[in-house]
This record gives sequence, structure tokens and C-alpha cells, in this order.
Amino acid sequence: MTEPTVRPGDMHPLPEVPGERPPKPRPAPLPDPESAEYWAAARDGRLLVQRCEACGHHQLYPRAVCVVCHGPVSWIEASGRATVYSFTVIRQNHSRPFRDWMPYVVALVDLEEGPRIMTNIVGCDPEDVRVDMPVRAARFDRVSDEAGLVLFAPEG
Ligand SMILES: [Zn+2]
Repeated sequence: MTEPTVRPGDMHPLPEVPGERPPKPRPAPLPDPESAEYWAAARDGRLLVQRCEACGHHQLYPRAVCVVCHGPVSWIEASGRATVYSFTVIRQNHSRPFRDWMPYVVALVDLEEGPRIMTNIVGCDPEDVRVDMPVRAARFDRVSDEAGLVLFAPEG
């Protein structure tokens, strides 16, 4: 009996088990013209947010114009710092991409720039996650040729 290489909450790609079907990757987002740059940057290890060129408002999800003033938007790299707004610990999910990761954390985090995004908290025991906990963009998982996912871990 060998020790598991994946501990709860880490959500690392799963090793193949002889005699079983290979692990199935988690579903990948389908980029559209407005979001393609965001997903491609995450694939390459960068977290982007949109910034309005007229009023400075930051926004995600990606949109063609600013939701405040309808001005033009461009992409900037986010600091990666965020705080947990809300979260849940997933203890039941029998679909193959997720079942061996349980328990794991699905969270809404508020980026320092303002936008609130959905992510996973990794790098700690799920029981240690708290509302208002400082976190940082810590892992960028490539999930397709076009897209990556940004995962967060406790700051420090
Ligand atoms: Zn604006």
C-alpha cells in the first residue's frame, strides 16, 4: 500500500490506476470572441481582468464594453490577490473528473481589482477555508488547447 500522492483539496491531475479507465479531465470552458483572451492567458499562467479605458472600472466576466459607462475595455494583468467571499466544500460528486478530488472547495473570491470570480481553493485542508480569507492566484491548470483555469491558495 502506497501513500496517496494527492491529498484532499489539492485537485491535482489524478494518476492512472492499472486496470481502470484513465482519469477523465475536468470539463474545459468554451471560449467565445469576448472571453478567448482571458482563457488563453489563464492557460499561459496569467490572470487578466478587463479595465474600462474611459472610467477605470474593472470587470469580469468578459464583455464587449464597460457595464458602467459603455466605454471601451482593454485587458490588464491582475495582481492575483483576492479574498474569499463565499465557499462550499464539495463532498459528493460522482462524475469521473471530480469524484477522486473530494472533498474540494468551490469558492467565490473577490479580486483586489474588484471582480468576483468562481474558482477552487487548493493548497490547504478544505476545513481551513474561511470567508474573508486572503488568497492568491496560485495555480493555472491547462484544461484544453485554448483554455486554462485559475486556482487560488491561501496567501502566505
Ligand atoms: Zn467605464
